[in-house]
Amino acid sequence: MSLRVEKVSKDFSTQHKSTHALEEVELQVEKGEFVCLLGPSGCGKSTLLNIIAGLDRATEGEVHLNGREITGPGPDRVVMFQESALFPWLRVIDNVEFGMKLAGIPKVERRKKALEYLKMVRLTQFKNSFIHELSGGMKQRVALARALALDSEILLMDEPFAALDSQTKRILQNELQRIWAETHKTIIFVTHSVEEAVLLGDRIVVMAANPGRVKAEFRLDLQRPRNLEDAQLRAIIAEIMKDLKEEVEKVAQEEYDLDWSTGKDHVLSAGDPTVGVRL
Ligand code: ADP
Ligand code: MG
Repeated sequence: MSLRVEKVSKDFSTQHKSTHALEEVELQVEKGEFVCLLGPSGCGKSTLLNIIAGLDRATEGEVHLNGREITGPGPDRVVMFQESALFPWLRVIDNVEFGMKLAGIPKVERRKKALEYLKMVRLTQFKNSFIHELSGGMKQRVALARALALDSEILLMDEPFAALDSQTKRILQNELQRIWAETHKTIIFVTHSVEEAVLLGDRIVVMAANPGRVKAEFRLDLQRPRNLEDAQLRAIIAEIMKDLKEEVEKVAQEEYDLDWSTGKDHVLSAGDPTVGVRL
């Protein structure tokens, strides 16, 4: 498996404005890598992920998977979003089986697989529950089981834990690391949190905004599960923050109303690695 993003640019134009969302983005991902795309809000992370997913087309440039150009969605890629997009009228197990059913996998086999992946996300005892009976974290675990059960080559994740409370998020980050180690899946994970990126990624691709482009890359060769208290990890966070700080400030400045923006006092502190303010 190998994914090549080659000089991908993307423009959006609406009646009101045109946006140069991506500028000649280059990215290569090899089998089994866990790559985090990190960048401020609006820098084109979702746009890039959608193009890789085949849900959107590049204005210029190409994406190749195993030497073939991506022109639409395919069974080799599965996407997981911030909102789990589960079917509320189906039970947990039927949600996990849904994609496999569409793919024509026979009943017995898909039930077996669904149970296997529900076990992996530790939700076996909720297999017959309805979606509304689950917490936000449990819903994302069902979505993860459903994505994994499709057994695609690449798992594309767009801020899948961003809406969860911090404890639940930490649990799911640990689960995902364990699952990644068990399954050797190739994962491209979008996040705006430096902490999340360094906890999860083998490689972190830092993006710059306006236009969205690759600004820096970091490789992390640290044991898992990783601990944010770890001195090495803190040093990497500080290093990445140097690159990100400028971008965050730029985006924040551009988003302010001009009459309100009077100076740097309003810009968020770069010392805070969670960068809770509209990063
Ligand atoms: P991110 O995921 O990093 O927050 P996005 O990829 O969602 O950023 O957006 C990148 C830029 O492209 C933003 O300026 C956004 O407003 C713009 N954009 C994204 N999708 C569309 C669209 N469908 N139509 C017009 N503009 C869009
Ligand atoms: Mg996004």
